[in-house]
Amino acid sequence: MTNAAQVTPKKYDIAIVGGGMVGGALACALGNNIEGNNALKIALIEGYEAPTQWPENSFDLRVSAISPASKCFFETLGVWNAIREIRATAYTEMHIWDAGGNGSIHFDSADIGEANLGHIVENRIINKTLIEHAHTFDNIDIYCPNTPASFQFDNDFAKLQLDDGTLLQAELLVGADGGQSWVRQQADISVTLNDYQQTAVVTNITTEHAHQHTAWQRFLASGPLAFLPVNENNISSIVWSTRTEEAERLCELDETAFKQELEIAFEKKLGKILHAGPRVRFPIKGQHAKNYVKPHLALVGDAAHTIHPLAGQGVNLGFADVQCLAEVILTAHAAHKPIGSFKTLRRFERTRRGDNLLMLEAMGVFKKLFSNNTPGLRELRNIGLDISDRTIPIKYFFMAKALGR
Ligand SMILES: Cc1cc2nc3c(=O)[nH]c(=O)nc-3n(C[C@H](O)[C@H](O)[C@H](O)COP(=O)(O)OP(=O)(O)OC[C@H]3O[C@@H](n4cnc5c(N)ncnc54)[C@H](O)[C@@H]3O)c2cc1C
Repeated sequence: MTNAAQVTPKKYDIAIVGGGMVGGALACALGNNIEGNNALKIALIEGYEAPTQWPENSFDLRVSAISPASKCFFETLGVWNAIREIRATAYTEMHIWDAGGNGSIHFDSADIGEANLGHIVENRIINKTLIEHAHTFDNIDIYCPNTPASFQFDNDFAKLQLDDGTLLQAELLVGADGGQSWVRQQADISVTLNDYQQTAVVTNITTEHAHQHTAWQRFLASGPLAFLPVNENNISSIVWSTRTEEAERLCELDETAFKQELEIAFEKKLGKILHAGPRVRFPIKGQHAKNYVKPHLALVGDAAHTIHPLAGQGVNLGFADVQCLAEVILTAHAAHKPIGSFKTLRRFERTRRGDNLLMLEAMGVFKKLFSNNTPGLRELRNIGLDISDRTIPIKYFFMAKALGR
């Protein structure tokens, strides 16, 4: 390994560790090509070279429900058209119903005068588009594939040594490196943990009937099962959250047996399951960093918080973090204030932590409420769903949250 003391570090204002959806978006939000402008110099470090090409008519196993607020953010970044040209499937309705009774709720974008409730986009499309866009900026250097081996704070700078020996220095180090964040662990920031004791089984399926541009979710006693439309017709991505041992069993079934169980669990709402692709499992944890910032350090996206996928909000919260952090940094920079000072960064933490906490706690309550089949509670929950369905202000409140407002 290179001796850090003997090498002159490459100097940056900001080093972002993790070039996934959130880190890539942050780099683009700070990207600048205006000549003579006092642009911030950014290093983006990503450990994994994500695919930029794939067979036609193939679908990524990982998809995200992108809220209208996140879509607006992509438009501001100048990447939405590129995403849409590859594939982004709008959903105009959402149907949620309870396996333990007759309660259900239905959202329709027409009720609130919106064109849709959001878009389902494959993660690889978002990743590719953001990284390609980041490459177009003069003020961004991308280190990929590369990972940091160590970092230390030294004279108001973070010094970062990469695996290949490159030494970087930055006034601000941002951890956008996901739920297992190396940056968060190195900075000794602890997390509060809510182990939902569930695992999500994810796959792509083809159904007999078209998905009707609807996001479907059935609450089973073992966890929620979601069908999300990924193409224009009858291909959906499913996220089946269930007990961990049950998820293992579902993944071991052959395709015919899996399709049969899925049809039963989903009450054949879209007819027969004609095809089911390979299945992958993701353990589900609610996790919240005790602090988002320290002097010269900030955490964004899953590095700061992970949430149950049942409401499709995880990466949308991450994009909201990015917009807030970018604004705080650019405002401080324009005012010639230090971008890495605790005072500057606290503005970001104060703005985002409350919102994220609210969403994390709401998901915890939903998960507990719907995976409890005690008869009294089950009836109450079904009455609650029906009342919410018929009470316009409550419905509007839920829709506003889902839309990212
Ligand atoms: C089954 C499932 C379904 C979901 N559905 C939705 C949904 O519909 N809508 C929604 O909003 N959210 C959804 N989420 C949540 C969403 O996937 C995450 O919130 C999102 O991926 C977080 O993005 P991120 O960039 O913060 O982290 P990640 O996606 O984890 O990316 C982190 C990046 O950092 C890199 N990295 C990690 N460590 C290092 C290191 N040491 N050095 C360099 N690079 C490093 C990784 O390679 C990766 O590219 C879902 C999650 C799951 C599990």
